[in-house]
Order: sequence, then C-alpha cells, then structure tokens
Amino acid sequence: MIDELQALSSEVSIRHKSILDIMTKLDEYNARINRAVAKSVTNCGCIEISAKKQDFESDTLEELAQKLDSHVRGNICNVCREKLEEEIGSYIFFLSSLAETLGFNLSDTIKKELERDRILGIYTMK
Ligand SMILES: [Zn+2]
Repeated sequence: MIDELQALSSEVSIRHKSILDIMTKLDEYNARINRAVAKSVTNCGCIEISAKKQDFESDTLEELAQKLDSHVRGNICNVCREKLEEEIGSYIFFLSSLAETLGFNLSDTIKKELERDRILGIYTMK
C-alpha cells in the first residue's frame, strides 16, 4: 500500500511538485492533526486532556512504561476519528511525496523502523 501511495503521490501532485511545497504541506498537515485533536477536546468533548507532571522514578523501564500516563480521558468519537484519519492520511500522502522526490522508498524506511523497534523494544527510548 505504501509503495502504491508513493507512486500515486508523484503522479497526482501537480500543485506541490517543489520540495519546498511538500515540506510546508507536511508542516501544515502536522498542525491540522494537532488542531483536530484539540477540537475533539474543545468542540466535541469526546475526549479530555488531564495532564500533570509525569513520575519518571522507577526500578525498570517496563515498570515505567506501565505507569506513565497519556493524559487522555474518554474515547474519540467516530466523527472526530474520521477527521483525524483524513488529516493523518494527507500527512502520509505528503510524506510519501517527500520520499519520492528525494528518491528513497518509504516502505523500506518503515521496515527499517519496525526492525529497530522490534529489536530494541522498550529500549528505543522514544
Ligand atoms: Zn468527538
């Protein structure tokens, strides 16, 4: 699917052929993703954010991973999920376009990332 999207992003991008347009579109869609999450909280109300300082004291990384909080309360509704999926999809489109323009394969990048994450697991420290 990623290979198909990458090839398609190259074919259909007429207005955003320049790497500068692609880079700024990535920024725009990153902001739109964050805006969609914020609107889920402030407009819809399907989720809330209840944040406080994280307690990073722990004996093991596994224990730490268990106790850290996402600060999200509730569940995203179908309307908000649809909007977020749309924004994330557009972001992925421009990420594919960036990869195509710079001549590398996004699928290979994802495979490498998956491999690193599988090998290092919790120790990726991301
Ligand atoms: Zn919602």
